[in-house]
Amino acid sequence: MKAIILLGPPGAGKGTIAERLRSGAGYIHVSTGDMLREAIKSGTPSGMEADVFMKRGDLVPDSIIISIVEDRLSGFDSDASLMFDGFPRTLKQADMLGGMLSRKGAVLKRVFFLDAPDDLLVSRLCGRRICRSCGVNYHVRNVPPKKTGICDVCGGELYQRADDHEDTIKNRLEVYKRQTSDLIKRYEADGVLLRVDSSRDVNEVVGDMMDDLGICRCCG
Ligand code: AMP
Repeated sequence: MKAIILLGPPGAGKGTIAERLRSGAGYIHVSTGDMLREAIKSGTPSGMEADVFMKRGDLVPDSIIISIVEDRLSGFDSDASLMFDGFPRTLKQADMLGGMLSRKGAVLKRVFFLDAPDDLLVSRLCGRRICRSCGVNYHVRNVPPKKTGICDVCGGELYQRADDHEDTIKNRLEVYKRQTSDLIKRYEADGVLLRVDSSRDVNEVVGDMMDDLGICRCCG
C-alpha cells in the first residue's frame, strides 16, 4: 500500500486534482469532507455532530475524523494506492495516519502542499457550484455550465455548498492556516513535502504532480 496527501487550503483545487489522479493514475480518493457530507446526508450520529462544526467552517473534532477514516480504510488491500484529500488537518490526525500506514507496512510517498493566494481562493470558492447528482464541479465565471444551474454531464441540479459563502470561507481559511502550519513543518522535516503552485492551470499542476510521482502524463 502507498499513500499520498493533498494538503492545501479550501479552494486550492484538491477535489479537481484528486479526480484527475484517480482517473489518470488509479489513486483511491479518500476525502474526509466528502465522507462527512455523506454522513450528514444519511443522518448518522457522527454526521449530526459534525454538521454544527462544518456550518461554522470549524474543524470537526479529531475523534469523529479518526473513527470515520479508520472505518473507511479497514477495507483496502495491501496494493491500494491511497490519496488523502483534506486529511490530516491536525498533528493528532497525522499521528493516527502515520501509525495506521506503518501497521499496514505502507509508505507515505509524498505530501503535496497546494498553495495559492487568498483572494484567488475566495473567488474560486464563492463561485463554485456542484452537481447534486454526479458531483462534477463548475465555477460561475471560470467553468460555467452551458445552462445556468444545470449540469452539462447529467442534467442534474447545481448547488452551492453551505460553507462556500464569503463569511464562512474567511473563517475556513483562518482555521486552515492555524491548524496546518504545524503539519507543513512536520512533513517538511520528514522530507516528503513538495510545494506546488496551484494558482496555475490545473493541467500544469496535475502534470507536475504526475512527473514527481513517476507516472506517465499520457497513459498513467
Ligand atoms: P473540505 O471538503 O475538505 O473543504 O471540508 C469541509 C469541512 O469539513 C471543513 O471545513 C471541516 O469542517 C470538515 N473537515 C473535513 N475534513 C476534516 C478533517 N480532516 N478534520 C477536521 N474537519 C474536517
